[in-house]
Amino acid sequence: MLDVGVVGGGTAGCAAAAFLARQGHAVTVYERVENPGPVGAGITLQPSGLAVLRALGVADEVIARGAPFKTLLCTTGTGRALLSLSYDDASAAAFGLGIHRGVIFEAVYRAAREAGARFVLGVTCEDLVRPPRGKGRLEIMGADGRPLGTHQLVVVADGARSQLRDETVIPKHVAQYPWGALWFVGKDPSGELSKVLHQVVDGNQRMIGLLPTGKGPLSVGEDGAHVSLFVSVRATEVARIRARGLAAFQDEYARLSPTAEPVLAQLPPMDQMVFTQYHDVTMYPWNTGNVVYIGDAAHAMSPQLGQGCNLALMDAMVLAEKIATYTYLPDALDAYSRTRRSHLQFYSWATRLLTPFFQGDEPWFGILRDLGMPMMMRVPWMRRMMTRSMCGTLTSVLGHELDLP
Ligand SMILES: Cc1cc2nc3c(=O)[nH]c(=O)nc-3n(C[C@H](O)[C@H](O)[C@H](O)COP(=O)(O)OP(=O)(O)OC[C@H]3O[C@@H](n4cnc5c(N)ncnc54)[C@H](O)[C@@H]3O)c2cc1C
Repeated sequence: MLDVGVVGGGTAGCAAAAFLARQGHAVTVYERVENPGPVGAGITLQPSGLAVLRALGVADEVIARGAPFKTLLCTTGTGRALLSLSYDDASAAAFGLGIHRGVIFEAVYRAAREAGARFVLGVTCEDLVRPPRGKGRLEIMGADGRPLGTHQLVVVADGARSQLRDETVIPKHVAQYPWGALWFVGKDPSGELSKVLHQVVDGNQRMIGLLPTGKGPLSVGEDGAHVSLFVSVRATEVARIRARGLAAFQDEYARLSPTAEPVLAQLPPMDQMVFTQYHDVTMYPWNTGNVVYIGDAAHAMSPQLGQGCNLALMDAMVLAEKIATYTYLPDALDAYSRTRRSHLQFYSWATRLLTPFFQGDEPWFGILRDLGMPMMMRVPWMRRMMTRSMCGTLTSVLGHELDLP
């Protein structure tokens, strides 16, 4: 049995804690937030992420609060379809699940607690003290150099802005995209917006997306359909857009996407709409000594392909599998990095490649996309590859795929 410290109680941290505690390890999760709750907007769970939730035994409760959809549609403001992908092209049983992030959080948090993981809340882990010559326990340090705990294995899952990632010698690239999104979760009383994930683009600098989001977290207690609205914004433009006021914002985006009007009408004052900026993190390997990095801390990416949470869940499951397979911990962590390499590198690469076509400062990427995407959609092999990549299961451009449990 191992004594494991997990830094960060988000999706990756809670899922890893649940898998490892179920194997009988003593798991302590250190979380910065004092009262973690179901916050955030909608995201898409792909077949890959759903397979992990199934392995955790929480998929049914998550699906019951989500909005399953079959189609991803991207159109221009004039209604021309650039991209229309159906999960049916991958498998009749496959679907995307639009879901409030809080629903996933509630499920994995409870799974971790029920498996016996201990949570230390309201503490910020600022440093890791490694044992001399790698032998002995790792010490997690909190604010003001206060020791929080010592562990045989530390799983770093503190998200895209990870503090603990920065002090490793692992080669890495950490950057912030100049772009992000203003977002809002609204109601969809007619249910009409809950059938398709629909993005409307105008070049690569204006985009509005409507993501089916289902009923939302159980603890919030609402049972009607919800939808998340995302508007692509350059970080340097946020203050100007807010200053222009709500009416101008609603008017501009209702003209781009008349379908979004019922949600735009529900928007709060502009200063209450949350802006989230995206990160791009690559590193390899994801382990050093008895420390392993998972989730956004290890491989944050822009959400163009809708994979971050799914990859984080897969990390947690594979890490636990490797720890169960190998008796010597460093071997298990090496095997973890090797096993995750092709899947994570494929999605990092594909996301980086795709992002400027949807959000970027060079308008000609948008022009190329408007010309090229409809042509690519007509090639059956390309369409199938795009669908499988959306499903979260590809591990190479040659079409190799993960074996899902
Ligand atoms: C706008 C947007 C849309 C997205 N859409 C999708 C989508 O459709 N599909 C998808 O799969 N993914 C999507 N993602 C990505 C997804 O949200 C992330 O990949 C996922 O949440 C990563 O989980 P994580 O546990 O690694 O990190 P996080 O969820 O960020 O969790 C990190 C946790 O660590 C805690 N923490 C941070 N620092 C410390 C510290 N020093 N000490 C202790 N605790 C700490 C934090 O409080 C937090 O609880 C989207 C992201 C954004 C921004």
